[in-house]
Amino acid sequence: MNRKRQSKHLIVAIDGPAGSGKSTTAKELARKLGYLYLDTGAMYRAFALKVLQEKIDPDDETALNRLAEQTQILLRPDAGGICVFLDGKDVTDKIRTPEIDRLVSRVSRVKAVRDRMVELQREIGKNGGIVAEGRDIGTVVFPQADVKIFLVASPLERAKRRLKDLRAGGIRISLEKVLADIEQRDEIDSNRKISPLKKAEDAVEIDTTNLSIEAQGEEIYNIIKQKGLHFR
Ligand code: C5P
Repeated sequence: MNRKRQSKHLIVAIDGPAGSGKSTTAKELARKLGYLYLDTGAMYRAFALKVLQEKIDPDDETALNRLAEQTQILLRPDAGGICVFLDGKDVTDKIRTPEIDRLVSRVSRVKAVRDRMVELQREIGKNGGIVAEGRDIGTVVFPQADVKIFLVASPLERAKRRLKDLRAGGIRISLEKVLADIEQRDEIDSNRKISPLKKAEDAVEIDTTNLSIEAQGEEIYNIIKQKGLHFR
């Protein structure tokens, strides 16, 4: 009998540390599946930019709570990925600097900040059809995700990738400095009390150290197919 297979709008969760290949892979996979790409790191980065602009002490939780209540962050799909709007202003070009890299993990530790972001992220993903990437997507934001991937890579390889991105954006910085920043961010993201970076029990781990972008995308695509999931 020829029974039509049920297809659905999946939620694909991709987590991992900085430079593990999340953004490139998630963007490409979303394009391939015709899904929405959700870069949750961009939201925390936009918030960190506001903290910087308003000259708020990143350790002042009360001030951060107040700021979180007054801040609007919007993501808009764009041909090359997404545009990030902070209180109505396009800040896409301002959120990937070493200064924000150093600040973002400190403000992302705060409960009120995370609560606000997670609420927004769940709203964006409520109908599925989404590839979301971050640190807590498979563990906290979408624990019911159909596919959970945890990407890892050696710190040196991750620093080299990040350096390439920064240099492409016209920023001059040494590999040693980028590596130190990445290791510090890993340390804060993995050891914070709320929603630390960790692999969900049901996530598939992929080491991307020696994988090309195409190979990473292909592996995840195959995992979706192997799970017998059908998407539209
Ligand atoms: O992914 P990206 O490197 O742009 O993320 C920037 C920072 O935002 C991370 O180092 C982390 O502190 C924070 N973040 C988070 N939870 C997420 C995504 C990002 O805490 N889901």
